[in-house]
Amino acid sequence: MEERTIYDVVIIGSGPGGMTAALYTSRANLKTLILEKGVPGGELLNTSDVENYPGFPTISGPELADNMYKGAMQFGAEYAYGQVSKIELEGDLKVITAGKKTYYAYAVVIATGSYHRKLEVPGEEEYAGRGVSYCAVCDGAFFKDKKIFVIGGGDSAVEEGTYLTQFGKSVTIVHRRDQLRAQKVLQDRAFANEKISFIWDSVVKEIKGENRVESVVFENVKTGQVTEQAFGGVFIYVGLDPLSDFVKELNIQDQAGWIVTDSHMKTAVDGIFAVGDVRLKDLRQVTTAVGDGAIAGQEAYKFITEHS
Ligand code: FAD
Ligand code: NAP
Repeated sequence: MEERTIYDVVIIGSGPGGMTAALYTSRANLKTLILEKGVPGGELLNTSDVENYPGFPTISGPELADNMYKGAMQFGAEYAYGQVSKIELEGDLKVITAGKKTYYAYAVVIATGSYHRKLEVPGEEEYAGRGVSYCAVCDGAFFKDKKIFVIGGGDSAVEEGTYLTQFGKSVTIVHRRDQLRAQKVLQDRAFANEKISFIWDSVVKEIKGENRVESVVFENVKTGQVTEQAFGGVFIYVGLDPLSDFVKELNIQDQAGWIVTDSHMKTAVDGIFAVGDVRLKDLRQVTTAVGDGAIAGQEAYKFITEHS
C-alpha cells in the first residue's frame, strides 16, 4: 500500500495570513506544509508601498513578502507548489487535492485570499495585457508619459492611482458615486496631487482601441451623458471576490463565498480554520491577516494536542 505522509497542518496559500499561520505552527513543532499556487507573498506582491504595517514606517510590498517568507520558513515548515482544488474528510484526516497530488493532514488552514473582480465591459478582456491592467506595481512602468485611467473609489484605486502618477502624464480616477470609499489619508493625498483628476458619478461602458487601449467610453449615471476620451492605459480596481470555490462542498461559506469563522478562526468543520482576506470580516489588511494567522496557528496547535 502507498505510504502516506501525514502533516499536522496543511496551510493553503502563502500570503501574510498563511505565512503567519505557518510561523506559529512550525515554531510549535507541528509538521507543517504550505501549499501555494503562485509565489510566496500573495497580494503583497501587487502592492507598491505598505505604510500601515507596524515596525516598518514604509516598506515595499515585495520586500515585506520576502521577510515574511524567511520568517515563516525558519522553523522547518515545508513549502510546495500546488493549486488546491478539493478538501475532503476521511475520519480524523483532511484529504487535500492539488493537481495530481494528494496531501493528508489533521488540520487545515485556508489562507487563499481573494482575486480582482472584473468590470465586465466590452474591451476589458480583449485589451487585458495591452493597456488594461489590474496591477500598478507589475505594469505601471509600461505606461510612462501616458494618460492613465483608473476605475474604482476604494483604497486600491486611490492608492495605486497615486502610485501611477510617477509614470503617467496624468491619472484620471473614475468613480460611480460622488464620494470615495478609500481611507481619508489616501483621499487627501490624491486630492493634493496635481497629476490626479476625478470623474464622478460615472461608469465605464466600453474600452476601445486598435491593437491596444486608445480610449474609454463612460456614462454619467446622473445626467445620462456619454463621453469618449483618449487614454493610453486602464487600471481596474473595483473590488475583490473570495478564492474559495474549492471548499464549496464543505458548507463553510456565506452566499457570496466568503468563509465564515468564529473569533478563533474555526470554521463549521472541526480542524479546518480560515484566515485573512478569504474570511468574512470587516477589515481586509495585512495586519488583520497576520493577526488571524497567529490565532489560527495557535488554535491548530490546541486542536492537534487535544486530539492526539
Ligand atoms: P493574499 O495576500 O491574497 O494571499 C493568498 C495566497 O493564496 C496567494 O499567494 C494565492 O496565490 C494563494 N492561493 C489562492 N488560491 C489558492 C489555491 N487554490 N491553492 C493554493 N494557493 C492558493 N493592506 C494593507 O494593510 N496595506 C496596504 O498598503 C495594502 N495595499 C493593498 C494594495 C492592493 C492593490 C490590494 C489588492 C490589497 C492591499 N492591501 C493592503 C490588502 C492586503 O494585501 C490583504 O489584506 C492581504 O494580502 C491578505 O492576506 P491573505 O494572506 O489573506 O491573502
Ligand atoms: P473595495 O474596497 O471593495 O472598493 C471597490 C471600489 O470599486 C468601490 O469604490 C466600489 O464602488 C467600486 N466598484 C465596485 N464595483 C464596481 C463596478 N462594477 N463599476 C464601477 N465601480 C465599482 O476594494 P479595494 O479598493 O480593492 O480594496 C479591497 C480591500 O483591500 C479593502 O479591504 C481595502 O481596505 C484593502 N486595501 C487596503 C489598502 C491600504 O490599507 N493602504 C490599500 C488597498 C486595499 P462603491 O464605493 O460605490 O461601492
